[in-house]
Amino acid sequence: MLPARLGMRLRNLGVIAVLAGLLVSAAACSEPPTEYKATVYIFGTLVDFTISGAREEDAREAVGAVEREFQRMHTDWHAWKPGELTRLNQAIHDGRAMRVSPFLLPLLVQARSLSAASDNLFNPAIGALIAAWGFHNDELPSGVLPDREEISRLAALHPTMADVEISGDMVSSRNRAVQFDFGAFAKGAALDRAMEILRAHGIENAIINAGGDLNTLGKAGRGSGGAAKADGRPWHIGIRAPAGRGVIAAVDLAENENLYTSGNYERYRESEGIRYSHIIDPRDGMPVRHIVSASVIDMNGAVADAAATALSVAGPRDWHRIALKMGIKFALLVDENGTVYLNPEMKARVEFAKGQPPAIVVSPPL
Ligand code: ADP
Ligand code: MG
Repeated sequence: MLPARLGMRLRNLGVIAVLAGLLVSAAACSEPPTEYKATVYIFGTLVDFTISGAREEDAREAVGAVEREFQRMHTDWHAWKPGELTRLNQAIHDGRAMRVSPFLLPLLVQARSLSAASDNLFNPAIGALIAAWGFHNDELPSGVLPDREEISRLAALHPTMADVEISGDMVSSRNRAVQFDFGAFAKGAALDRAMEILRAHGIENAIINAGGDLNTLGKAGRGSGGAAKADGRPWHIGIRAPAGRGVIAAVDLAENENLYTSGNYERYRESEGIRYSHIIDPRDGMPVRHIVSASVIDMNGAVADAAATALSVAGPRDWHRIALKMGIKFALLVDENGTVYLNPEMKARVEFAKGQPPAIVVSPPL
C-alpha cells in the first residue's frame, strides 16, 4: 500500500505522463498565468524559456540578448562547422599555438577541470574519434562502420585535456591528436550563460528547458495578473526516461538547481541490428555498449551536463566512484532492463511514475 500522500502525488504524475511535457507548472490555480514564453534554437535543440515575475518587455529583451549569445556559441563553439573552435582544432593539428577569445577560453578551462575530475570519462579532446564514428554531422551516420584498427589507433593516441596548455590567452597542446568537441557539455554551459544574462536583465524567476535538460532560476511562478510574482514553490520536473519513453520520475528542484540527462540511445548509428551510440568510451574509442541513461542535478548546468555524460560512460558498475570524484550530490541511472541506480539523497527526492521501476539499486551516499 502506498501512503496516502504519495498515492495522491503519483496520480499527479499521471498528469505529467499524459502531458508528456518535461516541465509541469505545479498546482492548479484560478488565476491566469502571466508567464513570458519564448523558444530559441541552439545546437540542434529547441530551447524553451519560461520567465515569471517580470515585465513582458524586460523578458523579451533578455531573451533577445540570450539569442544573440547563442548564435555566437553556435558558430564559435561548434566542433565541425567553421568558427573559432574549428580554427583552434586546426592549429593544434598543425602543432601551432593560437590566441583564444574570452568567449571560448572559459569553456576550455572548465572542460579541463571537469575532464580531470571525471578520470577523463568526460573527455572533450576526443573530437577525432567522434568524427571517425560519423557524428560530426547534422544527419545521423549510416553505411559502413569505421575501420576498427583506425578507431584503436586514434584511441591509442590518448588525447586528453591534460595535454592542453593555456598560458594567458594562448592555447596549445603537447599532443597533436587533441581535437576539441564540447558536445557533451556545451548545452549546460550555454544555459548557465543564458541564466547569467537573464539575471543581468533583472529576471529573478525562470526556467530554460532544452528538451529535458534544464536550468532553473529562482522559484516556480504562478502568475497573478499584471507582473506575476513567483509563489515560492519548487520546480516540479520530470526526469526523462530512456528511449523517448516519456518521464521515469518526478523531482522537485530547489532554487537554481539544474537537471541534465544523457543517454546512449539518443543519437546513434545502426549496423547489422547493433546500435552504436554517440557517447564514446575514450579508453577504447568504442561507443558505450551498456544501454543506460544518466541524470544529474547540480547548481551548475555545465557540471551536470558533463557529469551525465561521464556517468553514462562509467555505467552501472562505476558511476558512483565518478560521481564522488566530480562532487555530484544527486544522480540517477537507468539500464536497459529499467533497473534504476541512484544515491540515497536522490532517492529521497524522486517519485517514480507508473509505480516503481522493476529494480532499484541504492548506492552508498554521495
Ligand atoms: P546528449 O547531447 O544526448 O545530451 P551528451 O551530453 O552525453 O548527450 O553529449 C554527447 C556528445 O558529446 C556526443 O555527440 C559527442 O559530441 C560528445 N561525446 C561523446 N562521448 C564523449 C565523451 N566520452 N566525453 C566527452 N564528449 C563526448
Ligand atoms: Mg552531457
